Amino acid sequence: MPTLTLRTSRREEFLDLTPRVAALVAEAGGAGLCHVFVPHTTAGITINENADPSVVRDLLAALRRLVPADGDYTHAEGNSDAHLKASLMGFSASVPYQDGRLTLGTWQAIYFCEFDGPRSREVRVQLISAR
Ligand code: ZN
Repeated sequence: MPTLTLRTSRREEFLDLTPRVAALVAEAGGAGLCHVFVPHTTAGITINENADPSVVRDLLAALRRLVPADGDYTHAEGNSDAHLKASLMGFSASVPYQDGRLTLGTWQAIYFCEFDGPRSREVRVQLISAR
């Protein structure tokens, strides 16, 4: 299974994975379902707008308001906010593809969501052929 490796540079950031995922889909060709999975507990995946960078900035700001860093947590590692934010985003996304191209909407991108960086991360990409 193809695995993307990435290095995040801040505690919290969204990285646009769309070009790397699209390259795997183009290499495979044909039609099917592209499943993107994050094997971590403090990072997630979401699909949202990539045209205006303010959207990602606003998403992160809203997540910080929803899940404060210093809430009533008992998790000894001290990063409960990161676990909660990751669960809110979810750990996978699926996008249909056709003729070797993702069928994302015009403004959509696939984002890796870091909540406890910087660190090295992996993303697994499974292409399920419709043949
Ligand atoms: Zn933890």
